[in-house]
Amino acid sequence: MAEIVVVTGASKPTGIGYEVCRQLATQGMNVVLTARDAEAAGSRARELGVRGEPLDVTDPASIERLRGVLEREYGRVDVLVNNAAGMSTFGEQASTADLGAARDVLEVTLFGAWRLTQALLPLLRAGTNPRIVNVSSGAGSHGDTMFGLGSNNQMGPGYSIAKAALNALTSLWARELGGMRVNAVCPGFTATFPGGEQMGARPVADGAASVVWAATLPPDGPSGGLFRDGAPLPW
Ligand code: NAP
Repeated sequence: MAEIVVVTGASKPTGIGYEVCRQLATQGMNVVLTARDAEAAGSRARELGVRGEPLDVTDPASIERLRGVLEREYGRVDVLVNNAAGMSTFGEQASTADLGAARDVLEVTLFGAWRLTQALLPLLRAGTNPRIVNVSSGAGSHGDTMFGLGSNNQMGPGYSIAKAALNALTSLWARELGGMRVNAVCPGFTATFPGGEQMGARPVADGAASVVWAATLPPDGPSGGLFRDGAPLPW
């Protein structure tokens, strides 16, 4: 039976999550595309010929509903791609940040991934080569000179801190869940927004391929790292 992969935050045809679903389906994986809007999940999934399910990662009932569907239909999950993320106001500074908005970003990016992964762990453990991919960002690392924590990063503090915390969670899980490959992946600056390519962002297919690399790792692949295009990034 084909591997079962669950991807969060695949609502937009221009987004990385949607393209990850497309690439993984092309490789023969059994893709469960999710989006918090049920209609978007259905339409996007039909476009790709995959299964679509509504999922709001901040809603425990929505997570439990999806877990039940996955358990009934497949009895296991081979790959979980935590792609959904909250966005901060561009240019916001930590000293004056709206903390309510920052909390909302953390709810999606950090606690959403955390809660969903906890819920799906029994199904992941039922697979032979379980992989968890946390779609992160150089914005949450010290080593990225363009968007990292020591740069003049304009992505907003909520976004950067949520990604740094997601990287930390990746490390903890990799150590705790020894038999699984758990990695954080930065897709790189990717043109998922209008005018992106003119600003130097790379095509969505390339950003998504960076994620697909970690989603298709063999059992002896690396775990606990932050990667872009299969190469480790400094944290
Ligand atoms: P995007 O299309 O806006 O992706 C974010 C997705 O998260 C959207 O589908 C959004 O759905 C979803 N989402 C937000 N809140 C949610 C919730 N509560 N439950 C479920 N889904 C929720 O942007 P993207 O550029 O493709 O980003 C994809 C990932 O790559 C993100 O993790 C992002 O941080 C990361 N990344 C992107 C870049 C880049 O340059 N594009 C660089 C580094 C990292 P709605 O449509 O419903 O809001």
